[in-house]
Amino acid sequence: MSRRRWLRRCAGMLAAVGLPVAGYFLRQSGPDRCAFDGERIEASYRVRIAAEDGQKLFCCVGCASRWLKRSPASPDCIFVTDEMSGDELPAAEAIFVRSTIYTRPSTRDRVHVFRETEDAERHAREFRGRVLTSAARPL
Ligand SMILES: [Zn+2]
Repeated sequence: MSRRRWLRRCAGMLAAVGLPVAGYFLRQSGPDRCAFDGERIEASYRVRIAAEDGQKLFCCVGCASRWLKRSPASPDCIFVTDEMSGDELPAAEAIFVRSTIYTRPSTRDRVHVFRETEDAERHAREFRGRVLTSAARPL
């Protein structure tokens, strides 16, 4: 076997073994992915559902809501993210606004989360939305 051919064969073997290993490590250190659709999660729209068997992260309120409808288990806690501060808060304390602005264009979700009433009402006023109350609350 010529030296060049041997080197080519070694390079091929390295790629066959090395690429899957590199992919594994890249996935481990990459951004969080949505448990419903695999989308990359932006911190300002993140939803976290804590259950007995661990926690699930979602890219938007819509994905978390759809996942909950399909899930047989009821979650222990649901946390959403205030768009203004980036702080996490329990979904029960959040104010949800559906407006004309997409949170995630890929999911076409238009539900925004706020901690403060003034922020929610301002968003609803500026972007032709409405505050979601009682049964209209998604989470
Ligand atoms: Zn998602």
